[in-house]
Amino acid sequence: MLFLSTRKKQDPLANIIHVLPDNIANQIAAGEVIQRPASAVKELLENAVDAGASSIQLIVSDAGKALIQVIDNGKGMSPSDAAIAFQRHATSKIKAIEDLFAIKTMGFRGEALASIAAVAQVTIKTRRAEDELGTAVDIENSAVQKQEACSCPVGTNISMKNLFFNVPARRNFLKSNAAELKHIIDEFIRVAMAYPDRLFTLTSNGQEVFHLAPGNIKQRIVQILGNTYTSKLVSVTEHTDYMNIYGFIGKPETARKTRGDQYFFVNNRFIKSAYLNHAVNAAYADLIPKDSFPGYVLFIDLDPSQVDINVHPTKQEIKFEDEKIMYAFVGAAVKHALAQFSVAPSLDFSLNADIQSLDAVNKPFTSEKKEATASSSLYQTFTQKHQAHFIERENKGNLGHWKDFYEMPSKGETLTPKKPSLEILADTPFIQIHKTYIIASTSHGFVLIHQQLAHERVVYDKLVIAAQTAQVPTQKSLFPVTLSLGASDTAILSELLPDLQQIGYQVEPFGNNSFVVQGIPADVEPGNEKNAIELLIEQYKHYSSEINFSRREKIIRCMARQQAIKTGQTLGQKEMQALIESLFACTTPGVTPSGSPTYIEYKEDYLDQLFGK
Ligand code: ADP
Ligand code: MG
Repeated sequence: MLFLSTRKKQDPLANIIHVLPDNIANQIAAGEVIQRPASAVKELLENAVDAGASSIQLIVSDAGKALIQVIDNGKGMSPSDAAIAFQRHATSKIKAIEDLFAIKTMGFRGEALASIAAVAQVTIKTRRAEDELGTAVDIENSAVQKQEACSCPVGTNISMKNLFFNVPARRNFLKSNAAELKHIIDEFIRVAMAYPDRLFTLTSNGQEVFHLAPGNIKQRIVQILGNTYTSKLVSVTEHTDYMNIYGFIGKPETARKTRGDQYFFVNNRFIKSAYLNHAVNAAYADLIPKDSFPGYVLFIDLDPSQVDINVHPTKQEIKFEDEKIMYAFVGAAVKHALAQFSVAPSLDFSLNADIQSLDAVNKPFTSEKKEATASSSLYQTFTQKHQAHFIERENKGNLGHWKDFYEMPSKGETLTPKKPSLEILADTPFIQIHKTYIIASTSHGFVLIHQQLAHERVVYDKLVIAAQTAQVPTQKSLFPVTLSLGASDTAILSELLPDLQQIGYQVEPFGNNSFVVQGIPADVEPGNEKNAIELLIEQYKHYSSEINFSRREKIIRCMARQQAIKTGQTLGQKEMQALIESLFACTTPGVTPSGSPTYIEYKEDYLDQLFGK
């Protein structure tokens, strides 16, 4: 067995400090780069792209836990390069630090193959066009086990088996196959979207999930995001000396409740940027309903010296030399495109104006404006790292002023009112205030009930009982609605179907990433099912970071929130009474499932005290 590089053994008596052997050092370093099957997929696909392949096939079994294989027809490697490639910091892409600022390739750190070789059993077969024979190398625990000549097509065929076979703690940490496959699909899409002129296929457990024939960007978007976007895409193209932006944005009618279809690429690298995201959303401002998100696939090309891609090992967050210009530029380009296609009738700049003369690009971005952006709730929902789908809980800020009335729970417990026994006087009229609160008299004072939060508790309890006993009755849709989703949302929804059925939603797969809503719960108004399911997917993504909830619990929580009557709705006496009765029939009426109070009790002695009596 040949180690890729050797280090001298330290004298055990003289030292307690020793240099870690390469295989252990590599295993530790691998934790940065390879967190889950999807991270390996990303690295291998990027290597194939960097090798200039026009055909890239990804094959996975058991969501990448058993096998990840990438076959490309790129330039291949020489026999000696094929073994060196697995050493740490082995790269053909940069030679000196200056090269970092002129990066044209996806990779440059020389860490990916070394990390993969540290945590999986790897076999690579590769051949360059100029070589008659290729080479096959087997690697395990960072060490070359075997290398021999082989006949193989030009290009590289790399397979990694049993990811984390030697790091059981990490292996146990992996999520369900459905969840890991979804991550893989996300990474696959991010690479395939950026290189529409190349063939990409994805085969999972022997079934071809994607076959993306080479084409233009528009065709690739429709291949990936679905036919709903056919004839609903508006082209964006602006070129300046500083940067170019091009790609497509969805017409306002394609806006969805879910943020899924938003892609930004900088120099062909997928990035997550709350800031740029906000620029696009703001450009749509009055064209789409609040809380819905336009779809877009936008490419920004700029001088590599203007961006720092070296910020994070997985390279999804990048720093721009001048963020404000980027924000203004993206916003202006999107507005311009919407205006040109007469999607937005009146806009505050001339259609023919060169983008460079626009105020948005020319005028300095004031710190005032920046502050306003940073404090907007939309921006803040994004600020949590790696949580593009994080949704801030509403009303969180108000909790402080309620909390005197509650024992603060220790972690994991829910809030409970100090005095659970209270008697509502049903013969005194209920009063609704600001279409938000209900005041009801009690034998010792009054309660102030939050109508939406109270109803969320009621619906939650109803759904929990239904899920444990009989299924919620379904009403058949007279005009079944079809949903077309992106591939990763399809994966999520497919996983949720049985649980949805249990709570009254009958949703059936319809092939090609679409679904038909055949029925909805009998007590829910028809007409909103498309939104309801899209919102469910969006919220479910938020919950998926909280591992301690079961899938059904997550769905029930989402649906309870959705089906609850909202603030702003006028309630009659009967409705208020029904709500209050069902609230106090719940086992924990005082809090919502997520721990917000549903009502506050004001007692006579407290009121007397306020008035100094
Ligand atoms: P990086 O991509 O950052 O250079 P990697 O560890 O991913 O580092 O790869 C190391 C080197 O191996 C690359 O620089 C490249 O020269 C070579 N290599 C990796 N994958 C391929 C491939 N599919 N085809 C050709 N060469 C490859
Ligand atoms: Mg690489």
